[in-house]
Amino acid sequence: MKAARLEQFRAPLALVEVDDPTADEGSVVVKVEAEGICRTDWHFWNGDWGWVGMSPELPRIMGHEFGGTVVAVGAGVTSVTVGDRVTTPFHEACGRCQFCLIGRSNLCDHLEFTGATHDGGYAEYTQIRNADYNCIKLPDNVDALSAAAIGCRYMTAFHAVTRQGRMAPGEWVVVYGAGGVGLSAVQIASALGGQVIAVDLADDKLAKATSEGAVHTINGRLQDAPKAVRELTGGGAHLAIGGLGAQAVVQQAIMSLRKGGRLAQVGLTSQAEQGQVSIPLDYIIEAEIELLGSVGNPHADYPRLLSLVSRGVLKPSRIVGQTLALSEVQGVLDAMDTFETVGFSVITEF
Ligand SMILES: [Zn+2]
Ligand SMILES: [Zn+2]
Repeated sequence: MKAARLEQFRAPLALVEVDDPTADEGSVVVKVEAEGICRTDWHFWNGDWGWVGMSPELPRIMGHEFGGTVVAVGAGVTSVTVGDRVTTPFHEACGRCQFCLIGRSNLCDHLEFTGATHDGGYAEYTQIRNADYNCIKLPDNVDALSAAAIGCRYMTAFHAVTRQGRMAPGEWVVVYGAGGVGLSAVQIASALGGQVIAVDLADDKLAKATSEGAVHTINGRLQDAPKAVRELTGGGAHLAIGGLGAQAVVQQAIMSLRKGGRLAQVGLTSQAEQGQVSIPLDYIIEAEIELLGSVGNPHADYPRLLSLVSRGVLKPSRIVGQTLALSEVQGVLDAMDTFETVGFSVITEF
C-alpha cells in the first residue's frame, strides 16, 4: 500500500510502498477513506514531546484522525465485522484497567497513541488494535470526512467544553487560539448554548470563528485580550479553553477568567516551553480559579457526541478547510510552521 512515512524529524515525509497491515488477533484492518492532518503530527514531525516520553520511534506512519471501512477482522474480534464504518479515538485503550472501567479511557494505564506508538492513517490501510473496544461505529449519516474531522481536535474540544470545562448554557466562554481545536470549541460551545469569544492573531481565523458562532472576536495583536474579555463579559469569562500551550497564551487565558472561573487547557507546549509554563498563582488562589487538564475524549462519551453530529446539532465537517491527496501532506506540515492553515486539512485521496 501507499503511505507517507516519518523517517527523520523535520525531513520531508517519505512517500513509500509498504506491506498492508494484517488483521492480527484482536485487531481489524480499515481502509482509510479520510485522514486528518493534526498539529500533533506537526509536533511529532518536529521531534517535540520527548520531554513527556511521547516522541515516536522512527520510522512511523503518522495519522490519528480517520474514518474508514473495516476490510479484515482478526481472530477473537466479536463485535466488529467486515463492512462496518468506524473511527477510533487517537488514545486507543485497554478497556480493562481502573481508568477504563470508570469511563475515563483517555487516561488508560495501557494507552496506545495511533500514529505514534504504532502506525496510523497516513496510508491506504491501517490497523485498529483491541478492536472490540477501540472501534467506534459511525451512524449511517456520519461520513468518513466527518469522522476524520471528529478524530482528535473536535472530540478533544467536545471533552474540554462539556466534561472537563462543565460549560452551562449562557456562560461566557473564551477560546484562545482559533486553530483546529479552537474552532471546534467555538462551534461546540456555541451550539450548546455558550456565549463565545474567540482570540487569535489572524483575522481570517477569527472570521471563521464568527461563522462558527463566536459572538465576539479579539485580535491579540491589536488588543489586550484579557482586558477586552473582562469588558465584554462584565468581569471575565466563566470558562476559558486553552488551545495553545504557549506561555503568554496560558497566562492570558487565566487572566481572562472571572472569579470562580475555569480554564480547560488542551494545548500542549512546544520547544520554547518544553512542558513548563509559569502561572499567576496568587490570582488563581484569590479568585478560586480552576485549572483543568483535558486530553482526548473517553470512548464512553462518543455516543453522546455522535448523536449530536448525526442530528446536525454539531457539524464537524464544517471545520474542514481543505481536502488533499496523500502526496500533499508535507505541504500542510510546512504551512503549520507559520500557523498558515485554516481549519482542518484532511487527506481524502490515497
Ligand atoms: Zn485501560
Ligand atoms: Zn490530533
